[in-house]
Amino acid sequence: MHALVYHGPGRKAWEEVPDPEIIDEGDAIVRVDATTICGTDLHILAGDVPEVHVGRILGHEAVGTVDEVGDGVHRLSPGDRVLVSCISACGTCQYCREGRYGQCLDEGGWVLGHRIDGTQAEYVRVPYADTSTYRIPDGVSDEAMLMLADILPTGYEVGVLAGGVRPGDVVAVVGAGPVGLSAIASARLFSPSHIVAVDLSDARLEAARHFGADITINDSREDPVAVIKELTGRGADVAIEAVGTPATFEMAVRLARPGGRIANIGVHGSAAVLHLEEQWARDITITTGLVDASSTPTLMRLVASGLLDAARFVTHRFDLNDFEKAYDVFGNPGSAALKVVLTRSEGGEGT
Ligand SMILES: [Zn+2]
Ligand SMILES: [Zn+2]
Repeated sequence: MHALVYHGPGRKAWEEVPDPEIIDEGDAIVRVDATTICGTDLHILAGDVPEVHVGRILGHEAVGTVDEVGDGVHRLSPGDRVLVSCISACGTCQYCREGRYGQCLDEGGWVLGHRIDGTQAEYVRVPYADTSTYRIPDGVSDEAMLMLADILPTGYEVGVLAGGVRPGDVVAVVGAGPVGLSAIASARLFSPSHIVAVDLSDARLEAARHFGADITINDSREDPVAVIKELTGRGADVAIEAVGTPATFEMAVRLARPGGRIANIGVHGSAAVLHLEEQWARDITITTGLVDASSTPTLMRLVASGLLDAARFVTHRFDLNDFEKAYDVFGNPGSAALKVVLTRSEGGEGT
């Protein structure tokens, strides 16, 4: 088969590799029907995630068709259409028993395209297949479901739920990339009085309006702290950080009102400063987290019932064989790409 292989910082290729095989009895081999690229993949390619070894197939999001299952798989059969989540779950360790799948103590958590070969391929081996995949409801498109592999549960769980968004809240979201937009779209489900999006890109702020932000601030031109103070008199009830830089984290902390909540989603590669000399008396709560994808069944119902428009994230489409072109578009800030989707060409059984 073909797959997108990491060859060290800045180097990758769509190339011929051996087909994946069942290694453990809980594995399934899934034929990838649709996959996508995550900002985290760009971090890996930049060399920021050193535990990803040369030769690794990247990707942690897919929708596909079960091709083969190990003897220990009881709930899936060949031919089933499934979502392959970015988080694998052994299902039995202490953290998995608490629904905290991201912290799985066995070989689960974020492993696909990280510690084991991933989904940017024609086929993928999915460990703990019974507890790491979700059968796709009828009538929901592959593209919409693919957005539930990572971005929507991440924005919803690590942003909106961790931040405790409640009706009437003023919610500030710093960063209007796919995950920030997921936080905006899912915050709306709780009827906040305002959703304020902050970004340096006017194109992303325009997208934020489509996803439900009613106030947008380009922080190259306006000071978000001043705008939100003027709006509320005190600051945001919930500030969600969805970028992952020291400056945006520090901004999110300043945006929250006394007693407010700051939910960090961003993947940080360097130290950010918590100004306790300013914050110690402000009664703030800061949360961090890796997605568990425990909300996936809830999000599936919201998408299937039309309450959450997941397909709206898809801005570009490619054939799997054009993977390198898709990376060029996704990695180019000028392309205004949110999510790119790669699918097999008609009737393609692989090459
Ligand atoms: Zn991701
Ligand atoms: Zn586990």
